[in-house]
Amino acid sequence: MQILNGKEASQAIKDALKIEVAQSASRGKPVPHLVAILVGNNGASETYVASKVKACEEVGFKSTLIRLESNISSLRLLDVIHNLNGDPDVDGILVQLPLPEHISADEVICAIDPNKDVDGFHPNNIGKMVLGQPTFIPATPYGIMLMLQHYKIETKGKHAVVVGRSQIVGRPMSILLSGSGNPGNCTVTICHSHTVNLQEICASADIIIAALGRPEFIKANMVKEGAVVIDVGITRVADPSRKSGYRIRGDVAFDEVAQKASFITPVPGGVGPMTIAALMKNTFKACAVKT
Ligand code: NAP
Repeated sequence: MQILNGKEASQAIKDALKIEVAQSASRGKPVPHLVAILVGNNGASETYVASKVKACEEVGFKSTLIRLESNISSLRLLDVIHNLNGDPDVDGILVQLPLPEHISADEVICAIDPNKDVDGFHPNNIGKMVLGQPTFIPATPYGIMLMLQHYKIETKGKHAVVVGRSQIVGRPMSILLSGSGNPGNCTVTICHSHTVNLQEICASADIIIAALGRPEFIKANMVKEGAVVIDVGITRVADPSRKSGYRIRGDVAFDEVAQKASFITPVPGGVGPMTIAALMKNTFKACAVKT
């Protein structure tokens, strides 16, 4: 069994990007600028945004964090986005999800200029991804594709089972793996909470992508000997023995599944860092396309 080390793979991607940024800056090109918008002060969102800002520093991008009160009106938030859309100094805009209940995430995502939508959530960009056209790929599935590429994992002809059909992870993941690129060319089954015989379906998978948000849901009896197991899940579970009061759990029962898998991602240190590296690549692309 080999660990798919997201810290190592993402570092390699960031190191390469850092060189590209420095080279393009030396040719007089602008440095990419990512703006992150954080509404409210959800603990997990704070952590994710801080990691994104830190990654920008590492690769040599400019970054701006805009903090807004949780009771901000939709109109005011849309106004902030419109201003950023019109600002030529801004290449990428991301609005950290989830948003407070009174704000429609769909409306906010649609307000972002598709050319600055580095999260790849805008319907125009989703449509292009489905058509296999160049675009911004949602960062988590893109990060997983980069991970498969980094570790040279053969995907052609394999049966990939994606558990979870969210717009940001499961569904785009299923589209990318079934596409004709490399990684890709998988036969894909996408599962959700109404799937019957989930255990049997997972046990027939060569590649499992677990993206349900149910800690340690995927057990050894759901995994075929030699399968590649990618754990997207990040759930905070209470742990009074820790200073923070919680620990992070993935969707895979790591210890038992690792006994059967050929490759497996840890949590933390697997898909999480790859998501950030993918976001950096999208931001670089947003800037490069502009110039
Ligand atoms: P989500 O929007 O809540 O979607 C969860 C999906 O899992 C839904 O499609 C749901 O089915 C399905 N599901 C739930 N329980 C199930 C069950 N018992 N059997 C089969 N399917 C089930 O979650 P998400 O945004 O995709 O995130 C999933 C997990 O990934 C979360 O833990 C999240 O924190 C994590 N995540 C990690 C990263 C990262 O960078 N590592 C990025 C994004 C998300 P229905 O559609 O039928 O409800």
